[in-house]
Amino acid sequence: MAAAAGPEIERLIALLAKLPGLGPRSARRAALQLLKKREQLLIPLAAAMDETARKVVSCSVCAAPDTRDPCSICSDPHRDNGLICVVEEAGALWAMERSGAFRGKYHVMGGLLSALDGVGPEDLRVAELVGRARAGNQGSGDGGAVREVVLALPATVDGQTTAHYLAERLAGTGVEVTSLARGVPVGGDLDWLDDGTIVQALRARRPA
Ligand code: ZN
Repeated sequence: MAAAAGPEIERLIALLAKLPGLGPRSARRAALQLLKKREQLLIPLAAAMDETARKVVSCSVCAAPDTRDPCSICSDPHRDNGLICVVEEAGALWAMERSGAFRGKYHVMGGLLSALDGVGPEDLRVAELVGRARAGNQGSGDGGAVREVVLALPATVDGQTTAHYLAERLAGTGVEVTSLARGVPVGGDLDWLDDGTIVQALRARRPA
């Protein structure tokens, strides 16, 4: 059977199928929905994608996507310059921002070290991070000095390998390197936790 939908629609489906979480089947359903909701969905989505493609750039300081460079977080004078939170991708940055609990700056690594996938330090923004940590810490402590780098990387093998490596690379810069605590999630029932989480939570226990 030839492509039933015509080349334009087939191309749309093929592109949608490359999105995370969408296989060919769900891409086909998504495309159908877009075509059915032409005015409410297809046209505004196309416009939003076009605008994003034209206007959004990667921040030259932290690599977060934004319409301005430096991004709105890097150029916010009310945020703490002395604190840098290191994340794998912008998704983690957005999650931190949603929490409203972090008032420092960020550094998006752009991935994790992985021997299996052949990702080395030169593929990530390691040198840029070390450079930021060094800035202001080598000479007299001028205003912009970084005091602490918080590693907020995934609790996976690659995440922890990357965290270890970064801690080593940052060791000579004079900044304190910390990482997010691991443990029982808010609202989490011990019954449902995996062993690794329970072990980490027990290790990270503190006075009640
Ligand atoms: Zn930035």
